[in-house]
Amino acid sequence: MSITNSSWRLTYTGVALDRAAAVRPVQADVEALHDHALARVLPVWNGNHLFEHDGVEAKALTVADAISLRAASGDLIFLGLSGDAPWFALAIHTEEEPADVQLSGVFEPLHPRVGRLDADQAAMLAYARGMVLWHANHLHCGRCGAPTESQDGGHIRTCTDEACGYRAFPRTDAAVITLVEHPDGEHCLLGRQSRWPDGMYSVVAGFVEPGESLEECVAREVKEETGIIVTDVRYQASQPWPFPSSLMLGFTAKASTTGFKPDDDELDDIRWVSREALDSYSEMGDDKPGPKLPNRHSIARMLIDNWRAEL
Ligand SMILES: [Zn+2]
Repeated sequence: MSITNSSWRLTYTGVALDRAAAVRPVQADVEALHDHALARVLPVWNGNHLFEHDGVEAKALTVADAISLRAASGDLIFLGLSGDAPWFALAIHTEEEPADVQLSGVFEPLHPRVGRLDADQAAMLAYARGMVLWHANHLHCGRCGAPTESQDGGHIRTCTDEACGYRAFPRTDAAVITLVEHPDGEHCLLGRQSRWPDGMYSVVAGFVEPGESLEECVAREVKEETGIIVTDVRYQASQPWPFPSSLMLGFTAKASTTGFKPDDDELDDIRWVSREALDSYSEMGDDKPGPKLPNRHSIARMLIDNWRAEL
């Protein structure tokens, strides 16, 4: 099995910034960018992003506006350069949503509205979100418990206990997601978890564990969740998934067994689905009863649609 139709731009990929990593180590250089007339800041509050009131445009603040919020905010995190314009992310730590009068926008979650967002904006917000959430979860040293401080424009947090000095780097958690093809080549493996939206079916996914290759993880996750043995594990594409910190690594694999015998109860239902049967699966958000496909902004959907298009 090979998937050749990979012309999709996966949502949250392709951020249109020069990450300008060489600027990060010199604090004075990063601070000089704070004063740049074109500098813009993407605030993140309580996991939500700032949008225009019309709801279809992300809203960026000037550094001056962002600074006015900074009493209750974290460090400016340097994301990179768009042309000459430096872009930053900023975590706002207030319990209450910042007053609208300061922001003239509304804080809302990213993923539910991604279908209406420009792809470049979605990628930028995902990057900002991933960085802010990493900072929020690393305010203290994981080794000794002392507070950490932001360095390298926000791309390192260093322990303030000099005897420790532990440095933490932004992390992404590797997760595999796999479309498994039946030995007959005519069916693919889908399942659903009870906590998913009503009717939604998807492919098998799970986190990579220490001491495990990606291919081994694919085989283990498929076996645990379904009992199916797979071979011919092939990498396809990846998608940042900062909810809060995953990188989804998409694979295809070929089943060498067909009977379901899961080791765990992660999936409520498991089924082999033909290409023809997929035609009756509706879209998330449709009122239609019956099974639904994962939404179009997920790598799960890309894997399914590419397989459907194969002959
Ligand atoms: Zn420490």
